[in-house]
Amino acid sequence: MNSTPGTEIIEVASGIYARLHENLTNAGIIVGDEGVLIIDSLRMPSFARDLISDVKLITSKPIKYVIDTHAHWDHSWGNEEFPDATIIGHQNCYVEMMDDQWNEEWRSKILTGGDPWAEEAKIVNITPPNLTFDSSMSLYIGGRQLELLYFGRAHTSGDVFIHVPDEKLVFTGDVIQDRRVPYLGDSYPADWPETDDKIAELPIDTFVSGHGPNGNHEDLLEARSFIHELVNASKNAIQERRNAEQATESVIETLSDRFGDWVGFDTLDERIPEVIAKLS
Ligand SMILES: [Zn+2]
Repeated sequence: MNSTPGTEIIEVASGIYARLHENLTNAGIIVGDEGVLIIDSLRMPSFARDLISDVKLITSKPIKYVIDTHAHWDHSWGNEEFPDATIIGHQNCYVEMMDDQWNEEWRSKILTGGDPWAEEAKIVNITPPNLTFDSSMSLYIGGRQLELLYFGRAHTSGDVFIHVPDEKLVFTGDVIQDRRVPYLGDSYPADWPETDDKIAELPIDTFVSGHGPNGNHEDLLEARSFIHELVNASKNAIQERRNAEQATESVIETLSDRFGDWVGFDTLDERIPEVIAKLS
């Protein structure tokens, strides 16, 4: 399949696809009888249009639903390209996407980041979900149930999981990633471990993440362990009344044996003081 350069489309179950984008953000594509559901609209309108082109390689059915796994720009700033679709997200995702300060902080970070999509950030019309839920909802597509689940705050305040029970499959957004350190800047480290414990209960064989490769249940448990150990090591550093520099050093040292080769571990130290401040 000649999808957009840098992307790979993997059929993870009949009619359910993971569209993995090297070093960028993944999307999900679920084809039903009448239409298509997209998981994450990606970082910019042009990225959403590439995704729409790739969907056309699979089916000519219209895109009826978009689910935002969470409010981060690289997952949701393509929403405006789906004016005819129902855009679904957690109520807290809606609140974050309506937060002018959050939006402008991200916009200026992107504009000064110098990436090829930086200029496009100027013209993005940030479009929040138009259908929200609090704890869970079910959506039936192609005769299959999708469970949209909220387990509490974690990577953001509004992370949702798309569980396909018939296929033992879950889309995890950025909360669970395979051997990658998730972005911690907008996170809730006090809540995240408990949220992970709830995802770990799902009877799944495969997860599709917002970044990086697909994983299995064992990989999911490893991602949960990372968060637990990060939070425990940070709490220990707080108890030992270490200063920010010593605390960061001790957390990194504790985690490096098991997680040192994960993508993003090399810059984890930049985020530790923030995590510790949130836990203090
Ligand atoms: Zn994110």
